[in-house]
Amino acid sequence: MMDGQEILTRLRATDPQALDHLYRQAYEVKRQHVGTSVYFRGIIEFSNICLKNCLYCGIRSGNDQVQRYQMTDDEIIETARLAHRMGYASIVLQSGERQDPVFVDHVETILKKIHRACNGELGITLSLGEQSQETYERWFTAGARRYLLRIETSNKELYQRLHPQDHDHDRRLECLELLKTAGYQVGTGVMIRLPFQTYEDLRDDLFFFKAHDIDMIGMGPYIEHDQTPLAGNTDYMIQEDPLEMSLKMIALARILMKDINIASTTALQALSPNGRELGLMAGANIIMPNMTPVKYRNNYRLYENKPCLDENAEMCRDCLARRIKSIGEAIGYHQWGDSPHFYKRTASTGDGRKHD
Ligand code: SAH
Ligand code: SF4
Repeated sequence: MMDGQEILTRLRATDPQALDHLYRQAYEVKRQHVGTSVYFRGIIEFSNICLKNCLYCGIRSGNDQVQRYQMTDDEIIETARLAHRMGYASIVLQSGERQDPVFVDHVETILKKIHRACNGELGITLSLGEQSQETYERWFTAGARRYLLRIETSNKELYQRLHPQDHDHDRRLECLELLKTAGYQVGTGVMIRLPFQTYEDLRDDLFFFKAHDIDMIGMGPYIEHDQTPLAGNTDYMIQEDPLEMSLKMIALARILMKDINIASTTALQALSPNGRELGLMAGANIIMPNMTPVKYRNNYRLYENKPCLDENAEMCRDCLARRIKSIGEAIGYHQWGDSPHFYKRTASTGDGRKHD
């Protein structure tokens, strides 16, 4: 296994030959351990109402220039059915963070409705922030099987700098454990090239993922949003290309955690039109096509230059299919594409539930 020094050296590398070697090595690990099929998770951003105020995020509660929305149940179910019809075997339901009973009940109802509408064939991932143990359990019982909760950074002090005082890093880490206990496949991740972040922080992020035995990673570059307090802090960033830094993180994550699922995130595409394909070539195996109805997309801008704001789900699918074919990979339509790591992790406890 690579030690901390080697990871740092590889994270700092900018020589094209060293980078090429890193990406090829990661791709080979991916090929051997999870294969070269790409799995799609259609993402439905069903509401931008958020009670939190993260300093980097465009839909933070303090941004009063955003028009808030909530998709109707029918719109959400219809979008889930569309994903199902298009052969995406999994969806992600994402929104701003709320913990009130109306919201918790609502998500539970949506989960049950989707389960019914798609004969339980659709894998459902949630990305709805920090919740109580009871809520996580209720949503699991209602049919959710995976959960994405990024820790944003493993450096507690940096986390505090990027959030208001009442946002608690320890609580976020605790939630990851609650999710595991509830039986979810657990995903986490960080933003890359945040103001004040160092290469050592990124190395520690990788160690954090490994130490916490997580099943899935979704990480991507931090991208400014000019209606946020963090915008304009560019002097305090590592002065390196964010796309390259993100690809290096993906590759190192793949080499360190061979059998997990790693997403090639939309934020990569915001930096370069072929950013997601480069992510796949560096070791990622998951893509999250945006399924949010076009009329809402403009209001779900976590960062500037979010791509494909005017492309509907079918257009996204065709464009992605072409792009994936161009790099010689196959698409795992109609397959859940669960993280193999999850089944190994839970084999001893018998908690794992196979879906496809
Ligand atoms: N409210 C939920 C889910 C929506 S936000 C939550 O916070 O967990 C999903 C992710 O978007 C966050 O975890 C964060 O990592 C990412 N994000 C927010 N603002 C961003 C920005 N300016 N650049 C890149 N990613 C951002
Ligand atoms: Fe809300 Fe998530 Fe944005 Fe934080 S990152 S403000 S919790 S939507």
